[in-house]
Amino acid sequence: MPSRPFLLLQRLHAVLRPTGLCGLCALPSTQPLCEPCQAQYLPPEPTRCQRCALELAGGAMVCGTCLKSPPPYIQALALGDYAEPIDRLVQRLKFGGEPAIGRWLGRLLAQRWQQDGRPLPDLVVPVPLSKARLQARGYNQSWEMARGFAGELNLRARSDVLLRVRDAAPQSGLPLAQRARNIRGAFTAPRALEGARLLLIDDVMTTGSTLTEAAAVLLRQGASEVSVAVALRTPPPR
Ligand SMILES: [Zn+2]
Ligand SMILES: [Zn+2]
Repeated sequence: MPSRPFLLLQRLHAVLRPTGLCGLCALPSTQPLCEPCQAQYLPPEPTRCQRCALELAGGAMVCGTCLKSPPPYIQALALGDYAEPIDRLVQRLKFGGEPAIGRWLGRLLAQRWQQDGRPLPDLVVPVPLSKARLQARGYNQSWEMARGFAGELNLRARSDVLLRVRDAAPQSGLPLAQRARNIRGAFTAPRALEGARLLLIDDVMTTGSTLTEAAAVLLRQGASEVSVAVALRTPPPR
């Protein structure tokens, strides 16, 4: 966990950062990313697997992995790949004390969701942080995104539908194969969800094991279906 002086320095940096400039190219922009950078790094119409949001070549709708063993969520949407230099935006959202980036990413996801003609969920649910991590960070970046998404489309967002009961070791520090085991039992859903169609929101999807575990918990509580929307999707290793 970063030290307190480090966090304070980061927040100071966030406050002093010149506003009205694109976070990548530093040209004037009223949004965290200017329109040309959005078009380049978050292109509106890439071909992605409908189920897991990995980029696909050759016009297929669903990737081979999802055909063989479909994930518990029925669809996934990502704005772009988690790669240089756009990953910096998510780093600032998570570690730079800039929750407003999350609300903006949520609104952008909602606009894409609508443009795609995807059916609207009953409820928007963020992937929760543990209490300790929430305290250290001061906000949950996924909740900021969920609020942005719900606000854009007049939907309800709730942070008490899915809770984190166990603080797993950070997934990013683990080999891919160990991630599913690491996250097992980390979530609980305290209320009955009786047929609700839920949208799970997270900042980055890597192997999908966190979202798979969260979706399974929500389905066990009676949700009729779970969809997924993330800001960025980690491309498979080459
Ligand atoms: Zn730009
Ligand atoms: Zn897939």
